[in-house]
Amino acid sequence: MEINISRVKRDIEKIAEFNATPGQGCTRFSYSPEDSKARNYLIEEINRLGLTTSIDGVGNIRARLEGSMKDAPAVLIGSHIDTVLHGGIFDGVLGVVGSLEVIRVFKENNIKNDIPIELIIFVEEEGSNFGSTMAGSKVLTGKYGIDEIKSIKNSMGLSMYEVAKEVGFDPDSSQKYLIKTGDIMAMIELHIEQSVVLESEKKPIGIVEAIAGIKWFEIEIRGVPNHAGATPMVMRNDALVGASEVITTINSKTRTAYPSTVATVGKIICHPNVPNVIPGKINFTLDVRDTNPEGIRIILNEVEKKLNEISKKFNLSTSMKLLGESNPIILSNELVNLIEETAIEKGLPYKKMNSGAGHDACLFGGITNVGMIFVPSIGGRSHVPEELTSYEDIKAGCELLLNVVYKLTSSLTKKT
Ligand SMILES: [Zn+2]
Repeated sequence: MEINISRVKRDIEKIAEFNATPGQGCTRFSYSPEDSKARNYLIEEINRLGLTTSIDGVGNIRARLEGSMKDAPAVLIGSHIDTVLHGGIFDGVLGVVGSLEVIRVFKENNIKNDIPIELIIFVEEEGSNFGSTMAGSKVLTGKYGIDEIKSIKNSMGLSMYEVAKEVGFDPDSSQKYLIKTGDIMAMIELHIEQSVVLESEKKPIGIVEAIAGIKWFEIEIRGVPNHAGATPMVMRNDALVGASEVITTINSKTRTAYPSTVATVGKIICHPNVPNVIPGKINFTLDVRDTNPEGIRIILNEVEKKLNEISKKFNLSTSMKLLGESNPIILSNELVNLIEETAIEKGLPYKKMNSGAGHDACLFGGITNVGMIFVPSIGGRSHVPEELTSYEDIKAGCELLLNVVYKLTSSLTKKT
């Protein structure tokens, strides 16, 4: 029972060809012509294996390898195939192609699984169309209903509901395909790490124990716009000077919070944004994440304190609006142990770690046991054209997934 890495490589490279921005990274938004070609390629590969396929109301694909226990809850494996604008070729695709390869190995070795295995290919994980990440898995797990997919819109003003319908899906039928508690036995996602930890520790495998919770805010600081030449320094209410103090405080306080806490100001808008006018209003975002909710709370406390301080110091007014949040997810201890035990048996060096990025697997937290396997990203780069993982590490990740799925689904485990 062995992974055929040349098949995995062929699949990754083939899917990378379905790209709207050749030469400038990989761009494959859900519902685009490139996405449709990638889906067709995968469905053809799935059909070759004789799996039963179903496609839900927004385009999530599920392909099932039956087991001897016909109606048993399946082990779900897979990821997404959409990318960000000018992204890489491994994010998401690795988990899909690696899971497909696991099923191929089962078929070609005539391995008799008792528990069914399902390959899942999620749509719209990156939020590239409608600004909402993991929208496909949110629909599949019932976190998003028809109202939500009608309310999230792309840059043309079209909703996910409308676009899914336009390309031939039937979003009104989504309810019929929901995955609920008890429907699946476990969900395991293989993914690139998208950070530097595994590479710096020279470990081919990361076993994820927790996924960070996220809070997104928009912070507004209001001062008084005025003439840059005629207004003396002591008489200014400069919103950008206040904002800069808040931003540097966010960075310095996060460095001394928990090692797992991260905070980013990634977007800033200055009004009126004119060289000879004192800035009257600044809007910027705050993205704060931690697997430990206490880390997030500490940073928000510091931000509030600093906003109060600058409003007095520079005579500004401030406000902070929550844009979105997700709770930290603790992955299944049982699966972490099983993955660890299997890595040891296979002689694969590993590190137990947390994920700062969100993944489709997060949505299954309250529904079933969730596990995640990471493989290293060279230079920690992801969501960029330079995104890269060695095929040696990819093989290690696929092999580990294969053996974990084997243990979960084969009769051998039940006898022991
Ligand atoms: Zn991803």
